[in-house]
Amino acid sequence: MDLKSYAELAVLLVNRTEALNSLQALRELLEETGRTESAARVTRRDLDALRELCEELAGVFAAASSGDEADVVERLNGLLVRHPVHPQISGHDGQGWHMHLTEGGRVADALSVGSVMGLASVVTGLGADRLGICQATPCRNAYLDTSSNRSRRYCSERCASRANVAAYRRRQNQRNGRGQ
Ligand SMILES: [Zn+2]
Ligand SMILES: [Zn+2]
Repeated sequence: MDLKSYAELAVLLVNRTEALNSLQALRELLEETGRTESAARVTRRDLDALRELCEELAGVFAAASSGDEADVVERLNGLLVRHPVHPQISGHDGQGWHMHLTEGGRVADALSVGSVMGLASVVTGLGADRLGICQATPCRNAYLDTSSNRSRRYCSERCASRANVAAYRRRQNQRNGRGQ
C-alpha cells in the first residue's frame, strides 16, 4: 500500500467532485492515477459511494483549513469506523510482497479505505495542518502541503500567481486611492 498515493487520490477526489458525474469520468480518474484494474471493474454503485465519500473528504480538508484539528480527527475517525481495513499480503505484477488495505470488496470500498488511511497517515505523521484548501478565491481545491516549511497556501502554481496578481492590484488600488 502506498499511503502517499492514496492521500493524493483523496485530494483528487475532492477536487473532481463536480466532474465525477458519470462512470466514464470515474474510469478516467482511475486510469489517470494508474488504477486500470479498478477502472475496469467500477459500477454505478461504486460511483454513488465515491461521490458520497468526496463530500466527506472535502469536510476533512475544510476543517483542517480552518485550523480545527479536533474536528479533522473526529471526521477521520468516523470515516475509519465506516471504512474498516482488512489487510492482506499480496504479490502481483512482478512486485514483491506488499500489503493491500482491503481485499475482495467493491472498488469503492478499497478506494475509500485507501483515501481515508492516506489522510490519516498524513495527519498522524506530518500534522493536520498539512491538509489545506486553496486560498485563491473562488478556487476551493484541496491540497497536501509537503513543503519543508509548511508554507503552501494554494492548490497550484496557477492559483499562486493569480493570487499574487490580485494582491498586487489591491496594493495599487490602495495607493491610487490615497493619492486622490
Ligand atoms: Zn498491490
Ligand atoms: Zn486553487
